[in-house]
Amino acid sequence: MLQLCNFINGELQPPAAGRYLPLLNPATGQVFGQVPNSDAADVDRAVQAATAAFPAWRALPAEERGRRLVRLAELIDQNLETLAQAESQDNGKPLSLARTLDIPRAASNFAFFGTAAQHFATETHLQEGVALNYTVRHPVGVVACISPWNLPLYLFTWKIAPALAAGCCVVAKPSEVTPYTAFLLSELSREAGLLAGVLNIVHGTGPGAGQALVEHPGIRAISFTGGTATGAHIARTAAPQFKKLSLELGGKNPNLIFADCDLDAAVQTSIRSSFANQGQICLCGSRIFVERSVYEPFKAAFLAQVQALTVGDPLEASTQQGAIVSEAHLNKILSYIDLAHQEGGRLLAGGQRVQVPGRCAEGYFLQPTVFEGLAPDCRVNQEEIFGPVVTLTPFDHEEEALTWANSTDYGLSATVWTRDLARAHRVAHQLQAGVVWVNTWLHRDLRTPFGGMKNSGLGREGGLEALRFFTEAQNVCVKL
Ligand code: NAD
Repeated sequence: MLQLCNFINGELQPPAAGRYLPLLNPATGQVFGQVPNSDAADVDRAVQAATAAFPAWRALPAEERGRRLVRLAELIDQNLETLAQAESQDNGKPLSLARTLDIPRAASNFAFFGTAAQHFATETHLQEGVALNYTVRHPVGVVACISPWNLPLYLFTWKIAPALAAGCCVVAKPSEVTPYTAFLLSELSREAGLLAGVLNIVHGTGPGAGQALVEHPGIRAISFTGGTATGAHIARTAAPQFKKLSLELGGKNPNLIFADCDLDAAVQTSIRSSFANQGQICLCGSRIFVERSVYEPFKAAFLAQVQALTVGDPLEASTQQGAIVSEAHLNKILSYIDLAHQEGGRLLAGGQRVQVPGRCAEGYFLQPTVFEGLAPDCRVNQEEIFGPVVTLTPFDHEEEALTWANSTDYGLSATVWTRDLARAHRVAHQLQAGVVWVNTWLHRDLRTPFGGMKNSGLGREGGLEALRFFTEAQNVCVKL
């Protein structure tokens, strides 16, 4: 039985109180290990280690820190297969997806920020003949990085990499649902030459280790990705201590299909944007609005491809849809499918659990599911389901599509399909979404600002935005 450890001060350590949580493979329903259920004492040890390591780490030239992060990226690449297997086992995602998306992106995060820190410059403001102002950016200190279960190593490293590059020391907590690859990262970070205490990884639940981390007075900034309700709770907890906050939260993203688009491309990409990672990506477009004149052709082509998706054992090369992350989450998604029926939706595809034979007989599999006939303001179209469930809705004109697209409390991402250049820009600028894709989806450039409007979050990650977040600006004014 696999037993994970915390990583504190450069050493793998058991939790102080000796308590553990089971680790479950959602594809088989079987327990395969245990993860520390850490508490405030473990968090305190980690914060102390990070605080002690901070002066030496911040004093290293950015180039030297970057060298170690680039080395860590190389080690992730070298261990791609082990990490991908672990990610799939822990999360239920197809192994092919972990190999091509999750793990390569984790390596890119370190490679990108390892070099980005060397390009990070600050401003000067010259008052001719009077004074010279220049801005210094100091690392904020010890920071907390808290991540969810859907893209475990990908999102965990997306926070840790810029924090370390900026000269901060980190106490990180991965999701208790999918902690395996974060544990494997512990060893790799040591091999990459990170000084003891620079990166600490504490495992445990949100209310346990997570809450203790957010409350700890030694933490100066919190970078959090997860649900909107959790984000609100963290903001309430952190505000009285004036901690810097970066919150990447939930989404209910619209996908707008205009009649003049390349329909084949729109259908093909909408399959991915609806169901990739079993629909458990915060950027998935779960509300598909289609201009009425192409509604029927879009629907027919889309449904044909939905029916052809293979749900099965994540380890099979042919599998396109793996397991839902947990039984609790599967039940939540099923409750939304029930609700869709109650709200008058017509089921066009899926809607049922899938029994995968063999070793996955006890796993949590669900058919990709499509509804139509639901009002844009009904709960199914307003609340985040975070699973393989999408709705189709015809629209008659641009204004109507925009009103419906912007009608939720969320504002993370949106996708627009059109060949009309003017419309593409016009619509993009009116969408209340932090990220807009035109004729593509999940196309990422790590230099761009990433984050949501409205209840989808606070602040932006990515590129220089992330380096600014993990640093504190100081103006120095010199009289000339
Ligand atoms: P969650 O909010 O339940 O948990 C996220 C993390 O927060 C976990 O590590 C959890 O242990 C921790 N946590 C929970 N309560 C805490 C507390 N009181 N204090 C500190 N930490 C606490 O989210 P989840 O179910 O793991 O992930 C799914 C959610 O994440 C969805 O809403 C999804 O949209 C969102 N998400 C957003 C983005 C984005 O970039 N905006 C990316 C991925 C996922």
